[in-house]
Amino acid sequence: MAGGAYVVIALSFALAGGIVGRMKGSSFWLWFLISGVVPGIGLLTALLYRFDRDELRRECPRCGRICKLHDAVCVGCGTDLEFPETAIAGDAGGMGSAPAAR
Ligand SMILES: [Zn+2]
Repeated sequence: MAGGAYVVIALSFALAGGIVGRMKGSSFWLWFLISGVVPGIGLLTALLYRFDRDELRRECPRCGRICKLHDAVCVGCGTDLEFPETAIAGDAGGMGSAPAAR
């Protein structure tokens, strides 16, 4: 039964994807579904996807655009960005720990 084997594989990927998604603060079921529908790709996406709310941001000193903390260049004006002393937390509502913000 090739179909049965596929279901087992898809379920395994779905579970792994769901767990990864959950660990990254997203929905278990959302990533369970994505990884189950597209095994491999879904799991890979869950692993690689940087969930926005976990990400620290900072303001570009030149144009004021909110950039990601790890961006080396402002996407708005192209200014080289130093690693900042202050970081703006994502839209998690200040719940996340921000080591650079202390
Ligand atoms: Zn800028």
